[in-house]
Amino acid sequence: MKNGNVALVEKSAITELLFGDLWHYAPAPESTAVTKIKPQYGHFINGNWEDGAEHFPTINPATEEILSHFPEADENTISKAVDAARNAYKRYWKTISGIERAKYLYKIGRAIQERAREFAVLETMDNGKPIKETRDVDIPLSAAHFLYYAGWADKLDYAFPGVKPQPLGVAGQIIPWNFPLLMAAWKLAPALATGNTVVLKPAETTPLTAALLAEVIQEADLPPGVVNLVFGAGKTGAALVRHPDLDKVAFTGSTDVGKRIQKSVAGTHKRLTLELGGKGANMIFEDAPIDQAVDGIVQGIYFNQGHVCCAGSRLLVQESIAEEVIQKLKIRIASLRLGNPLDKNTDVGAINSQPQLAKIQELVASGIEEGAHLWAAPCELPSKGFFYKPSIFTEVAQSHRIAQEEIFGPVLSVITFRTPAEAIEKANNSPYGLAGGIWSDKGSKLFKLAGALRTGIVWGNTYNHFDPASPFGGYKESGYGREGGLHGLLPYIRI
Ligand code: ADP
Repeated sequence: MKNGNVALVEKSAITELLFGDLWHYAPAPESTAVTKIKPQYGHFINGNWEDGAEHFPTINPATEEILSHFPEADENTISKAVDAARNAYKRYWKTISGIERAKYLYKIGRAIQERAREFAVLETMDNGKPIKETRDVDIPLSAAHFLYYAGWADKLDYAFPGVKPQPLGVAGQIIPWNFPLLMAAWKLAPALATGNTVVLKPAETTPLTAALLAEVIQEADLPPGVVNLVFGAGKTGAALVRHPDLDKVAFTGSTDVGKRIQKSVAGTHKRLTLELGGKGANMIFEDAPIDQAVDGIVQGIYFNQGHVCCAGSRLLVQESIAEEVIQKLKIRIASLRLGNPLDKNTDVGAINSQPQLAKIQELVASGIEEGAHLWAAPCELPSKGFFYKPSIFTEVAQSHRIAQEEIFGPVLSVITFRTPAEAIEKANNSPYGLAGGIWSDKGSKLFKLAGALRTGIVWGNTYNHFDPASPFGGYKESGYGREGGLHGLLPYIRI
């Protein structure tokens, strides 16, 4: 225990005062009137909407209501989409100048900004994440991504001096449900900027903002076939990856599926980039600004209900400050408001699906069984929908499944360390290597440790901050290839 603060916050009368009736917020739900959800959508192929034989529902995970239905693409539909992309590539997209491609990308980026509220509400309804996150993070970053890569489209010769970068051709892209529009933007913007055409498959639980993006693309007058969307689940994704006329496959999702995709494209001419799972270590040193670090831990693991591949899901805290940090963290977490994702005051929304909730529950049960100690926020769960209380595991051993496997939920595993060398050893003791965080007052220490972390991304005195100009990607089983920045152009060009 470092100082008197800890003893102070432990007094139940004080916590009662802080988190009792005084902090009661009146409901402030965002209106859904801005959205127009159709009862059924089609695939978006060659600029047209095309229906399919089989359909699946997409639901609001906070209410369990069916929002709409989408068709499931089979091999014929996928072939049609790939043919449309190939034609558009040959006839139009690869022949126009970078300046022309940039104009389309600017148009799409600006249209997302203009319709930001509609996108935000739709994303929150389909995904379950709080409106304040879709409004302030997902949608602005999606627009920024298109605008950023629009800026590169006519400057590729300067990005790679001395060579004339060429597009690859047709890209098959598969994205997950945790940042539906943002992942579509991460995939589409660099591919289009470099002159490739695309067949993109959104995740089966979150297709709605992709459908709205197709509308935006139509309104931007993008030539038919440059962007095609096919809907469906894993079977559709696997069939897309197998299609022989793709030049490139880009995937973001679980490591298990990434490995299957890698096997499927092995021995073919297709290029592959994989952005997979993670078990990020957020490391707090005793010389860190503790209060800021506590907020950074919250941002690291409870942002987007922990459905973040680069989440700081392992808290590595120096033993001398562990008790203080955990106490302060519990108080901070107890103040998070869980509930209706459309409410502007909500901090923690719904888990995206019932299977994901079951996966979180299973891993948490394994943590308890293996001997870790679970603490959950003292909040009430809504009677409907898929919700999970923000939770902390202490007394975690590195061998526990909750220290090794990705929970992909609002559950933090706390591990202590004594020296910087031990912190690095523990942080790197993971099959993953996507992201990490370091909190310290000393800049030199921060840079030295960042170099020793085997992760693609390292945040210093912050966590989960994204920028289109900054490359993002993994080491080890977190995948390969980079998205964002100049590096994000490379997977889509031949030089
Ligand atoms: P998560 O576990 O986060 O849902 P997945 O890796 O299962 O992640 O899903 C990410 C994306 O990959 C989704 O669009 C999903 O439909 C797709 N997908 C699932 N299985 C396969 C597969 N075998 N081949 C290609 N895509 C797949």
